[in-house]
Amino acid sequence: MKKNVLIIHTGGTISMMEDSAGAVKLAHENPIKITSETIHDMANLIVKEPFNLPSPHITAAEMLSIKKLVEASILEQPIDGVVITHGTDTLEETAYFLDLTIQTSIPIVVTGAMRSSNEIGSDGLYNFISSIKVAICDQAIGKGVLIVLNDEIHTAANATKTHTSNVSTFQSPQYGPIGIVTKRAVFFHHHPEHQEKYPLEKVSKRVTLLKAHAGMDSSLFYALKDMNIDGLVIEALGQGNMPPQTIKGIEALLAANIPVVIVSRCFNGIVQDVYGYNGGGKHLKDIGIIFSNGLNGQKARIKLLIGLHNTESQLEIQRMFSL
Ligand code: ASP
Repeated sequence: MKKNVLIIHTGGTISMMEDSAGAVKLAHENPIKITSETIHDMANLIVKEPFNLPSPHITAAEMLSIKKLVEASILEQPIDGVVITHGTDTLEETAYFLDLTIQTSIPIVVTGAMRSSNEIGSDGLYNFISSIKVAICDQAIGKGVLIVLNDEIHTAANATKTHTSNVSTFQSPQYGPIGIVTKRAVFFHHHPEHQEKYPLEKVSKRVTLLKAHAGMDSSLFYALKDMNIDGLVIEALGQGNMPPQTIKGIEALLAANIPVVIVSRCFNGIVQDVYGYNGGGKHLKDIGIIFSNGLNGQKARIKLLIGLHNTESQLEIQRMFSL
């Protein structure tokens, strides 16, 4: 019996066309939506298009609306899998947001394209069909939100956009994909170790992401304190170290009870309290900075945003980042 797959189109290059001047733009009629309405042999497709946006226009409000649309649709009718099409620039953030907030074991796959619908070598339809294959695959059940592009299946927690234009842009540094899609079948070779779920009904907190660099000082940290942000993620140096001139500004944020989470600006490895010098990891831990566990900066920001809507306790946030 054919499975029921909910398709949610949200925009991005997969929904765009190149015009005669070579500019890639949102098309008058979404090409992937027109196509999805004609694919019936693989599954019964229930097609929804809540908005059609380039992914740099996506905010946490749109992510929350996708979450609510998935949840409402699952309650309305039997759904066996979900495929969400999305621009690739912020795809990993939406995928991780949904992974942390949707309580379901049914497969949810997020996909996109690097080449728009009428460009030579367009990968949109191909990725879309691969994603439907994964969404209807029994082995995809219970694996959390997955990112499928270019014949690879990645977890939402690990995958990141690594190349500006190459179709193999999504990679999971350090871990690799958890499965592959071939012409005949879908193969999984790994199972994600754990899944975390947090309730979320609204997103109103302001969480910022900063990247550390040699010679950085405290000025941006003081400015962030004056902006009354709710939380900060810093892509720190190496194993989790900061230039000493930043410490006063970071301490000002911590004194205002604003949680500060560090990840590494290296894309492999995790941050730890290893170095004992001024600004080193041990110093950062002593002043109350929260260490993350291998997430990249943009995903740690999503997690902190969701965490701050669930708890005011920095200890609890520290616990979330140790999972
Ligand atoms: N800039 C585009 C977007 O994220 C890129 C893409 O979809 O691949 O909407």
